[in-house]
Amino acid sequence: MESPRTAPPLPMRVLEGLERIATAIRADDWNRARAAGVNPTQLAILDVLEGRPAGLAVRDLASQLGVSQPTATDSILALERKGMVEKRPEPGDGRSQRVQITPAGRDAHAARAAAPGAVAQAASALPDDQQEYLLLLVVSVIRQLQESQAIPIQRMCVSCRYFRPYAHADAAKPHHCNFVDAAFGQQDLRIDCREHETADPSVRAATWTAFEGSQPPPPSR
Ligand code: SF4
Repeated sequence: MESPRTAPPLPMRVLEGLERIATAIRADDWNRARAAGVNPTQLAILDVLEGRPAGLAVRDLASQLGVSQPTATDSILALERKGMVEKRPEPGDGRSQRVQITPAGRDAHAARAAAPGAVAQAASALPDDQQEYLLLLVVSVIRQLQESQAIPIQRMCVSCRYFRPYAHADAAKPHHCNFVDAAFGQQDLRIDCREHETADPSVRAATWTAFEGSQPPPPSR
C-alpha cells in the first residue's frame, strides 16, 4: 500500500514532478512551434540562434540543443528550405559552416509568442516571492548540470564575467552587472543573456560561492 512512509526517495519525487512539468512544456512547445510554422526542434534552433547575430557552428548548435550533429543538420536543412536560416563558411575554416537566423526566421520566432504556454501561465500565477525563489532553484539546477558537464555553459548571470553578486547593500537590488554598470535584483537574474561572456572556471566558482553564500531564506507561507 502506498503511503508517505513508502514514498520513493526525495530526488526521485522531484524528478517525477519535473517530468510532469516537462510533459506540459512539450505540449506548449508544439503549440508555439505550430504558431511559428515549424516543429519543436526547429523552433529550439531558432530560439538558440535568435540571440546570436554571429550565428553558431553546427556542432555548437547541436551541443546547445543536446542532440547529435546529424539530427541538428536535418533540422537546419528543413529551416534552410523555409528560408529561416542560412549557412556560411566559418571564418578561418572553410570546411566548417556557421548557421545564422534570417529575417524570415526572426519573424517566425516572434510568431511563437501568439501561443502563450500553460507552464509560463502556471508560474506567473505564483506570488512574486515564490516566482523569484523558483528562478533561484532553476538557476541552481542548471548550474549543477553545467558543472557536471551534462549541458554546455548557459548564458546565465552566475557564469558571466560581468556579474558581481551582492555588490550592493540594497536588498532590492543587491547584484551588479558590469556590462551595463547597473545594480539589479534577484528577480532580474538572466538565464539567457545576449551580452553574457563566460567567466574563467576559477572566477565562476568564486562568484557562485559569493552568490550562494548570501542567499536570503526561502519565502515562508
Ligand atoms: S551581461 Fe547579462 S549575463 Fe552578464 S551579468 Fe549582465 S545581465 Fe547578467
